[in-house]
Amino acid sequence: MDDATGGRKRILSGMRPTGRLHLGNLVGALANWRALQDDYDCFFMIADYHALMSEYESPGAIAANAREVLIDFVSCGLDPARSVLFRQSDVLQHAELHLVLSCYTPIGWLERCPTYKEQIKELKNRDIHNYAFLGYPVLQAADIVLYKANLVPVGEDQLPHLELAREVVRRFNSLTGAHALIEPQAKLTSSPRLLGTDRRKMSKSYRNQIDIAADAETIRKKVGSMITDPKRIRRDDVGHPDVCNVCQYYKTFAADEADEVAEKCRTAAWGCTDCKARLADLLIEHLREPRDRRAELEADPDRLQAILADGAERAGAVARETLREVKALTGLGGW
Ligand code: SF4
Repeated sequence: MDDATGGRKRILSGMRPTGRLHLGNLVGALANWRALQDDYDCFFMIADYHALMSEYESPGAIAANAREVLIDFVSCGLDPARSVLFRQSDVLQHAELHLVLSCYTPIGWLERCPTYKEQIKELKNRDIHNYAFLGYPVLQAADIVLYKANLVPVGEDQLPHLELAREVVRRFNSLTGAHALIEPQAKLTSSPRLLGTDRRKMSKSYRNQIDIAADAETIRKKVGSMITDPKRIRRDDVGHPDVCNVCQYYKTFAADEADEVAEKCRTAAWGCTDCKARLADLLIEHLREPRDRRAELEADPDRLQAILADGAERAGAVARETLREVKALTGLGGW
């Protein structure tokens, strides 16, 4: 592995293809991933098996959404020449290792997983009481260890999942006595948490997201609908920028203007309509480059297919080698 990576540590991360990616994905993940490419050997996955777990009742959209995610990946600066961009289901070893690791995972570990309970609560419009969903941390563990990833970029809230993956690895290594699998470490990211236009968590299911690919008109409409300081009702009321989501967007996308915006809000020097119009202009400009790159990629479907084929080949080469080791250690596939 060292030869292949030039001694750089390896990172694995992924995104479920449930639609186009949004600003929350951009600041919470993609911007970090883009930077990580400079220092790490990166594998970025379109996690379509993970999507199927919750979208199995309408699977028709998964393939189209995988294409959207790939376009968002590349248009936001993930570089297929430097990083491995691949679709999970193109590498069969994910499913195979998932099955092997599930033998090493006590059910109680999964039932106690706090994020499992949270997701059950959050995805109310989906029936996710299925066998696969209970086991999705095992598939995540397989995703990571398949590539012998040293690090996984996570926020604090995802630490329990990673800890579970680490426990599975420890159990596997201890019972097989070979320490073949690498225990992944968290690479904690301190991304700003960007709320949706209604101040709830940004999510397609709440329809409160601003897509990275949104056109200018949509951005203006979405920003115009953002909930602001609830106490600022009339134009001459003074505002409280610290409680206003719009101000948080300035801090994230135009930090150099945030102080001035806050001052103009506190003194009622401008109204929320002016404040939002300026923010919409900034976002339109910020997203111009990804939007232009998206247009180029959409016009070149062969390029998209080539990126996926190359990613599957490069990811598959590593995955096949790990599976060969795992099978030898677990008594599978020959004697
Ligand atoms: S002026 Fe801007 S920061 Fe102040 S409440 Fe209105 S939208 Fe929010």
